[in-house]
Amino acid sequence: MDYDAKRREMVETQLKARDIVDARVLKAMLEVPRHEFLPPELRDVAYGDFPLPISENQTISQPYIVALMTQELELKGQEKVLEIGAGSGYQAAILSRLAKTVYTMERIPALAEHAGSVLRKLCYMNVNVMVGDGTLGLKKHSPYDAIIVTAACFKVPDALKEQLKEGGRLVIPVGDEWGQALIKITKSRGELVERKICDCAFVPLVGEDGWKE
Ligand code: SAH
Repeated sequence: MDYDAKRREMVETQLKARDIVDARVLKAMLEVPRHEFLPPELRDVAYGDFPLPISENQTISQPYIVALMTQELELKGQEKVLEIGAGSGYQAAILSRLAKTVYTMERIPALAEHAGSVLRKLCYMNVNVMVGDGTLGLKKHSPYDAIIVTAACFKVPDALKEQLKEGGRLVIPVGDEWGQALIKITKSRGELVERKICDCAFVPLVGEDGWKE
């Protein structure tokens, strides 16, 4: 399987052909080997235009959604970014190419461990995988220039609003368990300005300020 060719085709037909225009995001999507983050039996379809299952009943988002959410974070290279929902570690790998430091939180220890080992193997050394409840954010390293939540919320967790830097961007799916709106929140002079990006469907964010198990 020629994964590099598949990845080039993905960038052309799924990202450039739609509305992904940030050259740095396109470069990261071209470089990060998405197949490495998937179980062996799914690697051949790693570059398809759809989400895929990972272990523990979780999913890795469709490449286009990863690129779109990343583009909305407006990363230039010097940022500290928080991701909630490490899952496979793929989204964190993309972020690691575009920001200075990435913290990614995962509530399921086995997933966090696996994501960490793939990220280390690929030498993405500026990513820190943390086990914990991301609905409470990660106060210790706050505030963040950008926060991305890759699991669905019925409301925006308060901690994430608080841990966003002035001028910072928060991208988060908000809705019910069947479907959500992908929302971008910008903190501007202490006020939170909200804009809807598109409709989406994510697995639930489970935690103290999220859904119960
Ligand atoms: N971004 C991932 C996919 C995320 S799937 C990737 O690139 O592969 C959503 C993930 O959020 C799941 O792994 C799930 O376990 C995790 N999750 C759900 N609730 C959470 C919480 N409160 N804190 C941290 N992670 C959470």
